[in-house]
Amino acid sequence: MLSRRRFLEQATLLAGSAVVTGSALAGESIAGEVPVDTDPELLAKAKRLLQKAPLIDTHNDLPSMFLEMKAGDLSSFDMSTVQPALCADIPRLREGCVGAQYWSIWVDSATQKTHTALHEALREFDVAQRFVSSRPELEQARTADDIQRIHQSGRIACLFGVEGGHMMENSPAALRTFYQLGARYMTLTHWDNIDWADAATDRPEHYGLTEFGERVVREMNRLGMFADISHVSADTMRDTLHVSRAPVLFSHSNAFAIDPHPRCVPDDVLRLLPANGGVVHVNFIWEFISPKYPEWQEKRTAALQELHARIDTDQGIAKGIAEWEKTNAPPRGTISDVADHIDHIRKVAGVDHIGIGADFYDVAPGSMVVGLENVTRYPYLFAELLRRGYSDDDVLKIAGQNHLRAMRQMENVAADLQRTEAPLITEGLKAK
Ligand SMILES: [Zn+2]
Repeated sequence: MLSRRRFLEQATLLAGSAVVTGSALAGESIAGEVPVDTDPELLAKAKRLLQKAPLIDTHNDLPSMFLEMKAGDLSSFDMSTVQPALCADIPRLREGCVGAQYWSIWVDSATQKTHTALHEALREFDVAQRFVSSRPELEQARTADDIQRIHQSGRIACLFGVEGGHMMENSPAALRTFYQLGARYMTLTHWDNIDWADAATDRPEHYGLTEFGERVVREMNRLGMFADISHVSADTMRDTLHVSRAPVLFSHSNAFAIDPHPRCVPDDVLRLLPANGGVVHVNFIWEFISPKYPEWQEKRTAALQELHARIDTDQGIAKGIAEWEKTNAPPRGTISDVADHIDHIRKVAGVDHIGIGADFYDVAPGSMVVGLENVTRYPYLFAELLRRGYSDDDVLKIAGQNHLRAMRQMENVAADLQRTEAPLITEGLKAK
């Protein structure tokens, strides 16, 4: 199975998706090294508010790192100390004021071809649960009330999000088992289309959800699991909003109007959120943030095409594009750019529909926007929102209250549906 980074790097050479190659960051200090012009008083105020909020981040890929680096052997990591090779650890989560974390259950979508997706998903759940139960600072949460109780007890609430509908292998039984294991959202697709839904970064095939896809969303409503429409095509977003009886989630997505990347959310979809109650959790990955990304990407693709025309080996092309990147530095984006996405979503959907889902997934220095490089940095973003005139209440909502409201609404819908609807037992058809 391709590791996530390898997967992204391969996409870099083939499709021109921008992943800046770089050596792993070593020995970064706990507070981060990047000089950011932040008013210390606003930063202190942001930290006070985040301690109260709680701050709920809906996407972090730590479980995959455990599997990729040490095949899931947790004894290799002392998580009570800073782990520079990992994208999270207890001291840095504390420093970042994280109150609740959804740990991502991520399996490469190519596994749908080999029918190993469910097997790999179980390995992810296993390592994520072993991690949570190995630390006294963590506790698994299954409800919105759990998140608040655990936060008030001074621990970090942990939940799971399944990043890709391919992992249920067209089986509602597997979906329900994911729920039992603690998954509270499933992203309908990852990078590729699946048998019943189109992804944002693949060719249109079903033009949204198939009929079975609609049934999966309705079963998620009945179970009390968010239908997460990050990564899906705009048609799949619209179809999901049309059939869902509960608030939807974007676990890690930004505004298309600011950065026209297919992974981002178009305005017509944002406008559907007030009626639905759903929340867009913004991520910090620079490609999905920087308004200059599409223009830079176009130039990079032209450079790649030129390299392909005259060089035969992958190695030679990789070397050539690395040279090109040296003189054409990627426009990485800043804290201010992330705040611009939040401003825009606020303008179109309203302040009740914004959350945070940073998507920390590695420790390469170029993955995130400047100033939000690691899990210690959340308060800097909220200090910027305070500087822009966001109220204390706005900060509490974006940090976690919006998510808790949507989750309670989803839980109520599920309780009602469980009285009137039978579980879905029909298995979906597999393409092959
Ligand atoms: Zn993702």
